[in-house]
Amino acid sequence: MKTIGLIGGMSWESSVQYYSMINRAVRDRLGPLHSAKILMLSHDFGEIAALQRAGEWDQLSKIMCESACALKAGGADCVVICTNTMHKLAPQIEAACDLPLIHIADPVAEAIKDKGLSTIALLGTAFTMEQDFYRGRLSETHGLDVIVPDADDRAEVHRVIYDELVSGKVLGSSRAAYRDIIARLADRGAQGVILGCTEIMLLIDQSDSAVPLFDTTALHAAAATRFAFSE
Ligand code: GLU
Repeated sequence: MKTIGLIGGMSWESSVQYYSMINRAVRDRLGPLHSAKILMLSHDFGEIAALQRAGEWDQLSKIMCESACALKAGGADCVVICTNTMHKLAPQIEAACDLPLIHIADPVAEAIKDKGLSTIALLGTAFTMEQDFYRGRLSETHGLDVIVPDADDRAEVHRVIYDELVSGKVLGSSRAAYRDIIARLADRGAQGVILGCTEIMLLIDQSDSAVPLFDTTALHAAAATRFAFSE
């Protein structure tokens, strides 16, 4: 079994989900005493979020590249960035050290295509919903049509992530707001919705949506587990 390198802490509320999902999957496959080989480098999200807000992406790139290299030096066989947003820096991280990077958008796109869907909505931070690094990968590499909420709804999705979910606050009022946003996206033609922030699964599950949901945390963790067992 290979060693999975996780860059976590963004936030730890979702990193703990990765840790748990990967370990459970290994136990299911190998038996009750077994668990995954994991190396996790967990950041202080307060520092990361401040740099995001300030637009200090060069500094963030340096931090992420150093993290990946530290995982490699520690014996990791791959890099898994436990956040959608920080995949903005995936090309730099991949180039910085000689480790395979399991890109979060790839298993998500494969799951969408496996269901025969082509028009998909994306929920996440403003960075993820509004910039091209994630939507571009879904459309250019995977041929999906991606729609995002309107400006007011994007602001609310982003606010709930940073004001609540990353610090473990799960509020019924925010769940109701997300349900309405998802319904509006379905009305606009979305055949499914990507939970494109690794904490949204703390708030929303399939019972909140009439169209299929794609949980990036679970799909990414499953891809990491498959890597661990690959030749
Ligand atoms: N975990 C989140 C994501 O998947 C947001 C935190 C971050 O900005 O990294 O995008």
